[in-house]
Amino acid sequence: MFEKILIANRGEIALRIQRACREMGIKTVVVHSEADREAKYVKLSDESVCIGPAPSAQSYLNVPALIAAAEVTDAQAIHPGYGFLSENADFAERVEQSGFVFIGPRPDTIRLMGDKVCAKQAMIDAGVPCVPGSDGALPDDPATIVKMARKIGFPVIIKAAGGGGGRGMRVVHSEASLLNSVNMTRTEAGAAFGNPTVYMEKYLANPRHIEIQVLADEYGNAIFLGERDCSMQRRHQKIIEEAPAPGITDEQRRHIGKVCAEACRRISYRGAGTFEFLFENGEFYFIEMNTRVQVEHPVTELITGIDIVQEQIRIAAGEKLRYSQEQVKLKGHSMECRINAEDPFNFIPSPGRIESYHPAGGPGIRIDSHIYQGYVVPPHYDSMVGKLISYGDTREQAMARMRVALSEMAITGIKTNIPLHQELFMDSAFQRGGTSIHYLEERLSQLKKAPQ
Ligand code: ADP
Repeated sequence: MFEKILIANRGEIALRIQRACREMGIKTVVVHSEADREAKYVKLSDESVCIGPAPSAQSYLNVPALIAAAEVTDAQAIHPGYGFLSENADFAERVEQSGFVFIGPRPDTIRLMGDKVCAKQAMIDAGVPCVPGSDGALPDDPATIVKMARKIGFPVIIKAAGGGGGRGMRVVHSEASLLNSVNMTRTEAGAAFGNPTVYMEKYLANPRHIEIQVLADEYGNAIFLGERDCSMQRRHQKIIEEAPAPGITDEQRRHIGKVCAEACRRISYRGAGTFEFLFENGEFYFIEMNTRVQVEHPVTELITGIDIVQEQIRIAAGEKLRYSQEQVKLKGHSMECRINAEDPFNFIPSPGRIESYHPAGGPGIRIDSHIYQGYVVPPHYDSMVGKLISYGDTREQAMARMRVALSEMAITGIKTNIPLHQELFMDSAFQRGGTSIHYLEERLSQLKKAPQ
């Protein structure tokens, strides 16, 4: 096992990784920008290195500074967390070439999955069901594009091969705007991702977002840890996640889970990963694979009892998977609210000093957050300041515990989206479960229209 790991991230996930390491007796090196100097996990680390000024381009995305930090502290492995460089194949390659272990898949796997056209092709080859579409990059010939769209049927969605974070997508409802939309998406994709390749998919009208968590080792063993429902989204950003997904039968779960585990073996996947699907009329359609730990991993941890971050570390150290598929047992229900420093209804970011902080607690409540009273939320990064996670024997119990926790949780000095979560946990459609990816935005527009 490693003696020392460098954590190349910040905020709640830096703390989460640090907790996993400390529990395993591994020393941690924490890197931080000038804006994150005061973070508690920096103080709790065995060593810390300031890697640059606040803007992430000069700190958390600064590859030479990260490698130098690992060298001077003699760390053996680097955990990238999520976001920042976690899905950057060139970074993973640099880490390995510099003699460190990258806690994640091999660089070529990250590269394959980072190009959505290649990823989809690899999944089709591995027998994973995909959204019907162009089966590859769109050609230049306009007549062929029109023919493809007619065959798929409108509406279609044009997506950038290099896209991510909900950007680089355009829905097309009719033939009249097709070619123009393809050209605009191409131009935008070239500018934003350095890759103008686009592809076409059928636009599903009312799907849910359901994803499968997998773990795979270097020796060809791969398992799935059930699914998560992440349909509560605004602008393609998840805000509430849960496991298991309401209404998914054991048979559906086993079937799609096995397909994903088999795909991992086919592409020699290593580490933790997530297959993201749209789910409509009882069918799963693959959209992309995330080759890293996800924000919402705790809901899976709570229903399986498996610590996903510790397993990532063990796999990277060359250990064999410790669980067979039969040993993975799903028990109970878990839900997660992302707590963001923002106005709950107009979503304007609200950085600043936390005047007081009263975390929730009690049976079945977990909080993953780096904040404390007096902590200053910097304006430079993502607005998520923590995750409130509940667990219960049933979905009803997990929801009831979340409602109590949301009423206890008090953060003053900054605005947070806790009032929005309170509203949603009282919402009857959400309470029934199984709402589509469009539900939250529809609900928000109703709230806006309602008299104050
Ligand atoms: P990103 O990598 O930018 O997150 P994804 O391919 O994962 O892109 O898609 C993000 C979101 O866009 C999905 O969760 C869904 O809400 C929407 N979306 C993507 N493809 C389709 C599709 N074919 N039909 C309907 N919605 C889609």
